Amino acid sequence: MPGQGSRNSVMAIVSILVIVAATAFLFWYFKGRGDNPAAARDLSVVTIDIKTNKMYLAVQKKGESFPLEHPKTGERTLWAAYVCRDEKILFPVQPGTMTTTCPSCASNMVGGATKEHRNYRVVMPEE
Ligand SMILES: [Zn+2]
Repeated sequence: MPGQGSRNSVMAIVSILVIVAATAFLFWYFKGRGDNPAAARDLSVVTIDIKTNKMYLAVQKKGESFPLEHPKTGERTLWAAYVCRDEKILFPVQPGTMTTTCPSCASNMVGGATKEHRNYRVVMPEE
């Protein structure tokens, strides 16, 4: 029966579309949330206090996500610090967002800062 065969084809195409849509949604969902994950355990992190524009070595406690609370002020002003490897600078990344280019020189040699970068100069992105 030709009718039967084409109905099966339509069902197959619909199934594939549903799977593709579901996969795309999951990618979007987890990527969106993965940008600012809560810590799975206490982590020592390099942050930038966006109030003083200074590097601050903080502890991201288990279950916490950025912005972190500054222990001295009690305000949640600590953003994750990224490093530009081309310029050797640190810059803050707005919580919930992701950066693949340096706000200062547009290099893509950027990544999360670690303790070895703690003495780099802090550069705030242009307002
Ligand atoms: Zn740069």
